Amino acid sequence: MMQYEFWFVVGSQFLYGTEVLDTVAARAAEMADKMNESGLLPYKLVYKDTIKTNAGISKIVKEANYADECAGIVAWCHTFSPSKMWINGLVHLQKPYCHFATQYNKTIPNDEIDMDFMNLNQAAHGDREHGFIAARLRMPRKVIAGYWRDEDVLKRLGDWMRPAVGAAFSKQLKVMRFGDNMREVAVTEGDKVEAQVKLGWQVNTWPVGKLVEVMNKVSAAEIDALMDYYKEKYVMATDDINSVRYQAQAEIAIKRMLDQEGCKAFSNTFEDLYGMKQLPGLATQDLMSQGYGYGGEGDWKTAAMTAILKAMSQGKASGTTFMEDYTYHLEKGNELSLGAHMLEICPSIAAEKARIEVHHLGIGEREEPARLVFEGRKGPAIAVSLVDMGGRLRLLCQDLECVKPIMDMPNLPVARVMWRAVPDLLTSIECWITAGGAHHTVLSYDVTAEQMRDWAQMMDIEFVHIHKDTTVESLEKDLFLFDLAWKFK
Ligand code: MN
Repeated sequence: MMQYEFWFVVGSQFLYGTEVLDTVAARAAEMADKMNESGLLPYKLVYKDTIKTNAGISKIVKEANYADECAGIVAWCHTFSPSKMWINGLVHLQKPYCHFATQYNKTIPNDEIDMDFMNLNQAAHGDREHGFIAARLRMPRKVIAGYWRDEDVLKRLGDWMRPAVGAAFSKQLKVMRFGDNMREVAVTEGDKVEAQVKLGWQVNTWPVGKLVEVMNKVSAAEIDALMDYYKEKYVMATDDINSVRYQAQAEIAIKRMLDQEGCKAFSNTFEDLYGMKQLPGLATQDLMSQGYGYGGEGDWKTAAMTAILKAMSQGKASGTTFMEDYTYHLEKGNELSLGAHMLEICPSIAAEKARIEVHHLGIGEREEPARLVFEGRKGPAIAVSLVDMGGRLRLLCQDLECVKPIMDMPNLPVARVMWRAVPDLLTSIECWITAGGAHHTVLSYDVTAEQMRDWAQMMDIEFVHIHKDTTVESLEKDLFLFDLAWKFK
C-alpha cells in the first residue's frame, strides 16, 4: 500500500475549561485508535489536535498542505467550535476534506444527562456551526454522519479515503506517450495543459525508437525469467514461443522506461510502431495487472484514469482495466454489451486463469502478437470516461452489471466482458452518447460511482452519473444546467 494517512482534527474552544478540553482530546485519540483497530479504514487515521484558536487551525492546514503523507483531513466538533476562527485556515486547505458528523456517545443516557453532559457532548450543535462555514466558503467536501463505531459508517469513511488517495496520486501522476493519438479520432484528444492544471498529470511523449533501443538491450536471461513468471501466472496456450518472448522483451523495456521516468501510465498506438515487430499485447496486459495505467490509440486520458482507479482500489481484489465498448446484443429483453479491445484488457478482471494465445492482428501491419484471452468475471461494476468538453473536463460514470458471456465466441481471439447496463442498455446508450462519453473507458469492479463522484469533486471537474433512476430527459436537463454552471465556475 502507498504510505498515506489522514489527519483527525477536532474542533472546540477555550470556553469550557481545561477539564473538558482534556476529555475531548483523550476521547478523540481513543476514537482514532479504535477506528484504526476496526480494520475498516484502508488508511490510518491520525489524531492531530483539538483546535481552539484561529492560529491553531491555520497551523494545522499549513502542515497538512506540506505533508506528502497526509491525503486528507477528517474534521469533527465534539463541542462547539466558533467557525470564524476556522476561516483563515480553511481558505488555504489544499487537501481533501471530510466533515465527520459523529458523536462520542451512542445514545442519550437518561440518568447521567445534565448541563455538564450537554456542554461536553454537543456535536449536534457544534457540527452545524462547522458545516455552515464550509458551505459559506463553497468548500468541496464530504459530509458523513453516523456513530463512529458502526460498521457501515466506518465503511463510508474508508470509502472516502480511497478517492482522496486517488487525488494525491493524480497530482503526481506522469504519463508516458509512445506516439500521438490515432489519426482523426476526436474523443481521445484533449488539452494536456488543462489536465495538468486540474488533475496534476504530466503527460509527455517519448519516441518509439527509444523503446526499440531499450528493447534491444534486454538480455535473454531477463526474458527467460519473465517467461517463467508467465508460465506460472497464465496458461501457455501457444507453440509460438518466439512471439511470447517478444512480448516479454517489450514488457521489460516499457517497464524500464516507465520506472526510470517515474511514470505510472502509458499509451501507444498501432499507427506508430516504427522498428517494432508486434503491437504490445501480453506486455501491456501484464503491466496493467501490476498497477500501471494504459490507454490504446494514444488515449492518454484513459491511461491516466486506469492508473488512478487502480491506485484508488489498492489492496482490493483489483479488478480494474482499460476497456472499450465494442458491439451489442440487441435481443429484446436481453440486451447486452460486449466490451473488449484489439488486445489490451487487464487480466485482473479475469474469471479464470488467462490463456496466452497468438493470433493474427489485422490492424497495424505487424507480426502476430501474443495476447491474454479470457472472460471477465460477473458482478457489479462501473465504467468511467473522461472527456474534454473544451474549457472543462467531464467525468462520465455508468453503472453496469457484468455477466458471464451468454456465448463462448470460440473465434474471438481477445479478452472479453459482457454486461447489462442500467437503467437498461438502450437508455444507457442514449444517455452515454448524449453526454459525449468515449468508446474507451476504465472498467472497475472495485471502485464505486460514489467514489468517482467524490474524486471529481476533489479535482473540481464535472461529474455525470448514469444510474438506475437516470432518464434521457433528466440527463439532458442536468447537462444543460452543468453547461451554464461551468461557464461561471
Ligand atoms: Mn480502442
